[in-house]
Amino acid sequence: MSAIARNLAVVNDRIAAAAARAGRSRDDILLVAVTKTVPSGRVNEAISAGVGAIGENRVQEARAKWPGLRGDVEKHLIGRLQRNKVSRAVELFDWIESVDRIELAEEISKRAVAVGKVMPVLVEVNSSGETSKAGVSPKEAGALIERAALLPGIRVEGLMTIGPLTPDEEAVRLAFRETRRLFDRLRDEPPRGAEMNRLSMGMSGDFEIAVEEGAHIVRIGSAIFGDRS
Ligand SMILES: *Cc1c(COP(=O)(O)O)cnc(C)c1O
Repeated sequence: MSAIARNLAVVNDRIAAAAARAGRSRDDILLVAVTKTVPSGRVNEAISAGVGAIGENRVQEARAKWPGLRGDVEKHLIGRLQRNKVSRAVELFDWIESVDRIELAEEISKRAVAVGKVMPVLVEVNSSGETSKAGVSPKEAGALIERAALLPGIRVEGLMTIGPLTPDEEAVRLAFRETRRLFDRLRDEPPRGAEMNRLSMGMSGDFEIAVEEGAHIVRIGSAIFGDRS
């Protein structure tokens, strides 16, 4: 077994254990293997080992790397997206998890309509309040979803967040819990046109907490592929 396959098995066990602790089904959680900086040969190892979804944070890197991929995987854009890259992003990706402003949603809509696609998107929320982080503030999320969900060619499916960068597990848990509450509120009374099905949160350092707090998508890179140098 390759190191990647071994790491993947460990990560999957940890997701399953966290789901069990929360009384949740493992099947409700999608693992997105984050492949940024990982060459296609190693991504292929992960696909061979059973990874069904991958995430990249740069359009250009995805475009250069993906011709070398074997097998069919769902492709998620998880990084900040510039307007002039939207056309390519719509072409390359199956999901865009990082919509954080209406101008971006409008551009995705326009490009998706032009190619006859309906793009599932998540609205990125800045749950930590760290100013370096992307994402709309929790207070503004509802208004952004309301507007984005009315656009053609786009389907708002939920929220994405990046947890606070701190060793304080309780602070991380609190941020995830707050995001989950926001998600639940929006799911219970969804803005017209939105279907709030997915909450994407949790990375290598905090995915078990995220699963315990209700994540449907976890985005995991270094725990599978090793540290990025
Ligand atoms: C890099 C990245 C991840 C994965 O980070 P790891 O700590 O390597 O698991 C998840 N989400 C986003 C948005 C990222 O940029």
